[in-house]
Amino acid sequence: MAVSTPVGVGGIAVIRLSGPAALETALPHLSVATLQPRHATYCRFDDVDDGIAVYYPVGYTGEPTVEYSCHGSLYVQRAIVEALVASGARMAERGEFTLRAVRNGRLDLSQAEAVADLIDAVTPAQHRLAIGQLRGGYAQKLKELRQQLLDLTSLLELELDFSQEDVEFADRHELRLLLLQISAHVKRLIDSFSTGNALKEGIPVAIVGEPNVGKSTLLNALLDDDRAIVSPVPGTTRDTVEEMLVIGGVSFRLIDTAGLRSTADQVEALGIERSRRAMERAHVVIEVTDASQNSSLSIIHSLPDSHIIHVVNKSDLLPSPPAGNSDVLYISALSGEGISELRQALLHTVGNINVSDVLMSNPRHYQALQLMQQALDRAQEGLDTGMPADLVVVDLRDALYNLGTVTGQVTNDQVLDNIFSRFCIGK
Ligand code: GDP
Repeated sequence: MAVSTPVGVGGIAVIRLSGPAALETALPHLSVATLQPRHATYCRFDDVDDGIAVYYPVGYTGEPTVEYSCHGSLYVQRAIVEALVASGARMAERGEFTLRAVRNGRLDLSQAEAVADLIDAVTPAQHRLAIGQLRGGYAQKLKELRQQLLDLTSLLELELDFSQEDVEFADRHELRLLLLQISAHVKRLIDSFSTGNALKEGIPVAIVGEPNVGKSTLLNALLDDDRAIVSPVPGTTRDTVEEMLVIGGVSFRLIDTAGLRSTADQVEALGIERSRRAMERAHVVIEVTDASQNSSLSIIHSLPDSHIIHVVNKSDLLPSPPAGNSDVLYISALSGEGISELRQALLHTVGNINVSDVLMSNPRHYQALQLMQQALDRAQEGLDTGMPADLVVVDLRDALYNLGTVTGQVTNDQVLDNIFSRFCIGK
């Protein structure tokens, strides 16, 4: 049992009671004889409050659940919780309801993690990512992979049962093909991580260029439009706050901005070094040059061209508007000219990301699937070199194990603790 609404005073609070005895525990406190399943019943809870009770024979947790919505005063919440404890209920742990949902097969582990992401989501992109993972595209994909892998493994295991007879039931060519398909899916998921994670955490952007080209001014110009919806993390000083910029529902994280602010005072070498470091972490680079100078910055970077935006700043100093050049964006950070085009260009760098694609955004899954991929590679090699079936099976089992840690077929308490301690009490 727990208060499932946020801690504190609110218009209403919802107290959730889950477990085989939920109905019997709640009923004696309610001013009605019974609760009809899934119907809202207006009733009194002892002499504490009037509110709405709903009974779910199979609730969010997969168990009988009663939810009581009452007035959100701390007194009312506490009185109801204490009355239920006196009747034998106990307080839920963090995330316990979701953990039970997992144990009861209502959600797989990857979906439970998506619930936590959904609760944390602030931008539309984070929301779409989490809801997509919760509703299934991703979980479904993992389930299919598991089934394919199980099929493949049992084909080979069948052979082991007859190993004395030296027969190969499974057509090696077909097995290799199946394994290749599974590998390709896993690889695609692994590759989607950098995008998925960037969408979740904010896409890291570096603004680079020589001192005095106007990087800080540009940074401020970009943020100005946006400041109202940027909320700095409380308790951090201005300098260490990572600047977040939300464009078209996607969050961008401007990295190393404190450093960039002071580059004007620094010797050039240091500025370039700083830019280089910022770029290593960036998903998108805005490369700034100065229209009034004939300098051109060319730092070697490993990003694809589509993730580099070339900007010529201080276009206001040019006598006439420059001839159109689609590769370069002329802006004036000072006057604001071209800033909205730059924002569009930023959004364009992620334009080919379809958030409804199956994207992986969870570092834990990323690690597990990499281990899975390694095991699949070994199995593939085993099949290619004609290794005995029992050895190939070991690698396939290893792949299954790693996949199982993502979906929850394989769990250990420490991993579960880690995941569910991210939740709040009542979820
Ligand atoms: P940084 O060293 O690259 O961060 O450059 P700053 O943002 O500190 O700018 C250096 C100088 O260029 C400052 O005096 C700015 O006012 C000026 N500046 C920046 N952007 C523009 C612009 O678009 N037009 C003009 N005319 N000056 C600019």
